[in-house]
Amino acid sequence: MNSYIEQLKKDGKLNKVLNKHQWQISNPPYIISGPCSVESEDMIVKFAHKLKSVGVDALRGGAYKPCTYPITKTVGNNGWKEGLRERGLKFLITAREETGLPIVSEIMDVRQIDTLSMDAIDTIQVGTRNFQNYTLLDELGTLDKNVLLKRGTWGTIDEILGAVERLLVGGKARVAICLRGVVGAPSYRHVFPQIRWTPDIMMIPALKELCNIPIIYDPSHSTGYRNFVPAISKAAIAAGADGLAIESHPDPANSISDPDQAITIGTLSEIMESVL
Ligand code: PEP
Ligand code: MN
Repeated sequence: MNSYIEQLKKDGKLNKVLNKHQWQISNPPYIISGPCSVESEDMIVKFAHKLKSVGVDALRGGAYKPCTYPITKTVGNNGWKEGLRERGLKFLITAREETGLPIVSEIMDVRQIDTLSMDAIDTIQVGTRNFQNYTLLDELGTLDKNVLLKRGTWGTIDEILGAVERLLVGGKARVAICLRGVVGAPSYRHVFPQIRWTPDIMMIPALKELCNIPIIYDPSHSTGYRNFVPAISKAAIAAGADGLAIESHPDPANSISDPDQAITIGTLSEIMESVL
């Protein structure tokens, strides 16, 4: 039996520690959507208007992108190199000004916590690769911001709660957990090669039993395959998720990053109708 969680439970401290400063989601399900990465000003601003018109609550778009293959992935024509970076953040500010949608975007490193990123980002995303970057988590915890902590693909339930606790130590950040699929070797991968991770739906009721931290489910990364995104979105909400983070794109197949999992605005709108 796990000692950390068991001990906190025994001492009656689990909820006291973890439910402090949680991110309040007043009208669930909270829908975050947008492209994997910001590709141009025109693209993100126009698409933000579309997302707004179907009732999305927040706009996502990566400015700093952790790419598995940093050289191979460089796209020359628009200066996109592991994201548009500072330019991407400026475009997100314009998208927010025009639509009023709050911005969800990733910060990969403490060096990226600067005036521009603080202006541009309402909800700071901690990507799966930084799930246990303690220096980053310690720093983010001191900011008066929402923080969306994505589960590391390897993360155990103890490690999830430990990372949340670490964010809460700073005393300021309001935290939600984002489940985005875990490592596994799906037996269907040879038939559906787009699949990258294994959906971690059961972690929703597991975490709900232990604490009240909001859970946002990411059906895009957890499946890797757009055809499965509607079903897994519904499954996550049925399992108790407080919201969804879904990658959508004006032209999904031509998305610079994660083209296999992006969905159209039409599919997004159908998903939203089915879960709202
Ligand atoms: C993302 O949401 O943009 C992302 C990079 O996801 P993850 O960190 O879960 O791979
Ligand atoms: Mn992505």
